[in-house]
Amino acid sequence: MKFNLQKSFGNMVFNDSIMKEKLPSDTYKNLKNSIKFNIPLNPNTADIVANALKDWAIEKGATHFIHWFQPMTNITAGKHDSFISPQQNGNIILEFSGKELIKGEPDASSFPNGGIRNTFEARGYTAWDCTSPAFIKDNSLYIPTAFCSYTGEALDAKTPLLRSMESISKHAMRIIKIFGNKNSKTVIPTVGAEQEYFLIDREVYDSRLDLKTCGRTILGSPAVKGQEMEDHYCGRIRIRVSKFMQELDKALWEMGVYSKTKHNEVAPAQHELAPVFTSANIACDHNQLIMETMRIVAKKNNLACLLHEKPFKGINGSGKHNNWSLSTNDGQNLLEPGKTPYENLQFLIFISAIIKSIDKYSDLIKLSASSIGNEYRLGGNEAPPSIVSIFLGKPITDILNNIADGQIQQPYTSKFLETKVSTIPKFIIDNSDRNRTSPFAFTGNKFEFRMVGSSASVSFSTCILNTIITESLDQFATILENSKDIDMDIKIIISETMNNHGKIIFNGNSYSQEWKKEANIRGLEDISSTIDSINHLLDEKNINIFSKYNILSKSEIKSRYEIMMENYYKTISIEASVMIDMIEKSILPTTILYLGKLAKISLNLNNLSIENKYISKSILDISKKIDIIDLTLSKLKIAINDFTISSHIKKSVYYRDNILPILSEIREYTDDLEIIIDNKFWPIPSYNKILYSI
Ligand code: ADP
Ligand code: MG
Repeated sequence: MKFNLQKSFGNMVFNDSIMKEKLPSDTYKNLKNSIKFNIPLNPNTADIVANALKDWAIEKGATHFIHWFQPMTNITAGKHDSFISPQQNGNIILEFSGKELIKGEPDASSFPNGGIRNTFEARGYTAWDCTSPAFIKDNSLYIPTAFCSYTGEALDAKTPLLRSMESISKHAMRIIKIFGNKNSKTVIPTVGAEQEYFLIDREVYDSRLDLKTCGRTILGSPAVKGQEMEDHYCGRIRIRVSKFMQELDKALWEMGVYSKTKHNEVAPAQHELAPVFTSANIACDHNQLIMETMRIVAKKNNLACLLHEKPFKGINGSGKHNNWSLSTNDGQNLLEPGKTPYENLQFLIFISAIIKSIDKYSDLIKLSASSIGNEYRLGGNEAPPSIVSIFLGKPITDILNNIADGQIQQPYTSKFLETKVSTIPKFIIDNSDRNRTSPFAFTGNKFEFRMVGSSASVSFSTCILNTIITESLDQFATILENSKDIDMDIKIIISETMNNHGKIIFNGNSYSQEWKKEANIRGLEDISSTIDSINHLLDEKNINIFSKYNILSKSEIKSRYEIMMENYYKTISIEASVMIDMIEKSILPTTILYLGKLAKISLNLNNLSIENKYISKSILDISKKIDIIDLTLSKLKIAINDFTISSHIKKSVYYRDNILPILSEIREYTDDLEIIIDNKFWPIPSYNKILYSI
């Protein structure tokens, strides 16, 4: 049967039109009100919704329901319960109550909780998030939920995100009211998360323990060809990849994900998917679905999808650009400058709020993209540096500077694309160029936060953006609500922002060395270490802003801090174990066999009185390398066993300073060995094979 995109789209989603069709009209209205205006749902309504959801899901072949949530693992979780309820006559009926819809009870101690939950006080709840629609996947009805402890503390990525959305809505509403907006009811942060990934052959993947357990190669000498020819970006999509992309799109569209753009990325075997932006909460749920579906569809196609930030040494890693903006519920993009931005004071106030917040909380911005995986990527001339700055583009920067300096703004005229080919149509070009090197770039009517890692949940960075920008909006709203001369006060706000925080604006090449120097002179912090970045979470100003806007309490922050620190050294610890295993169980044994072969050949030649220098040299070389690898492995084991301190921070610092250097030392020796050993003998697929076998 021919695929019909319009009919298939959202086929598996309990979306607005299905809701309208399946629910009694007053229930529908109650539910819509809850969704739109964050009003709690009454239990009666929940019962009716649950019943309608169940009937719809069963019609679609579902047998189970799942409270789907996002623990602090960057991925999702949930357990599947069937709808069956046994009857005395041996039959079953299918049931799903409002209570089951609203509340679930997974064991909270089995998920990362940073000490909030102990095994003996394990109770946790999942609570229905009615702002993100339920959907069916693999015959289960997925109910998006927030995950909290018995004591109400957030244990997930979604809860603080939802809190931050409410908070920014409240204060952004105050601003737009000042500028005369009487119609909009809420302001919604919008997110479009571009997802980069690698796609490699499954057999190749299965034969590398590092890829399977760490998601990245921890050994491997460079491929003969990397990305130096710049021929992969947006090039022809290979047949197997194209089939994967088609299946992926279909699966995502059925679940209501607005999958829009697909293309090859810069590195060999690297690709990207970008959805159409939507409300931040749904976009974050969808990004999780995108990552999960990528993995599944890849597996079905005998491929493996790598979402790690740095799967291959020496080759560009993957990011997740978080495109962020603010929109009113009636669809007005608040970051749209319009044709005459210098007259659009509301726009300029929002931009000023963003500048102020990003400058004041650049440490949180950096933190929101910090992980050990991303540490290999940021600052490597393939991704933004670890210094946070904003690209605004010349026109907007000029407008703000002119206001700050009391200069009169010259209206600018639109420019046309000039190709010097008469048959090519002329069109008006954007008022500023693109900047691909900036961590946080204004791209016309939204910001593109380009630091986030490919495997990260996009909820955290979105939550941080919402939170910090809330504060400036709150402050500006307070000034303007009490203003006697609004125009004057707007000018003062803009000048103060430019004078105190304009240093964060940088429209040049952020990859350059000059910028590093310049940033230093401007007093911008360069927090390149993940551990240092995580430490900033506990800064007083950061604890204060989270608690002021009820995003995260002090104990919730502490718990996130612990989880991030724990994650850091545990990742290194796993990589160390995998390295030991791969080298001891496969690389050294096969190298020894190869050495034996060479020795035998050498002996045979000797018997014929032939001396071959190349063979003798190789034997000596390989033999020496085996010894040095063995020696360094022993050093690694001692370093690991030597350390028994229990605090996560101390462990992370120790692993960074003492274990990581040994791992890279071992890698160097092993990668050297790979180069001199016959391909046929090397026990794991090489970079050539991994990157060029599709
Ligand atoms: P790029 O050249 O960076 O790929 P696009 O214009 O294609 O730029 O947009 C990239 C992403 O930004 C897409 O996911 C798109 O939906 C998203 N986006 C566009 N407008 C907004 C907005 N107002 N809010 C959030 N995301 C947006
Ligand atoms: Mg982009």
